[in-house]
Amino acid sequence: MHELSVVQSIVQTTSGILAERGIEKASFLTLVIGAHTGIIPKYVKMYYNDVCEGTPLEGSELRIESVDTEYFCRDCGHVFRSERSGHDHHAPEERCPACSSADLEVIAGDELMIKEVGYEDR
Ligand SMILES: [Zn+2]
Repeated sequence: MHELSVVQSIVQTTSGILAERGIEKASFLTLVIGAHTGIIPKYVKMYYNDVCEGTPLEGSELRIESVDTEYFCRDCGHVFRSERSGHDHHAPEERCPACSSADLEVIAGDELMIKEVGYEDR
């Protein structure tokens, strides 16, 4: 379960940013998580509160924005969105719905980023 280390690294990074700005307490954190990363938002939420304990993020609200995986077909140029989430390793290989090619490029869904940290100005 690598979500725990992902959450730890995000909380560490965010705490660092907050400390630099002299902010003692965040009210919310918005993350963007692409489906192709294989990171499951449900588990991120599950670990979040525990990992935040003792950091400026303790008690803050976690907001997650999910991004679907989007492919570009190198054979026919078709762009399509996948319903599938990245952790479904046992599913057959993704193929272009237009020409059935498997020569695909991921153009969206690889995101994992801190979009916004909310805090109250004092
Ligand atoms: Zn195609």
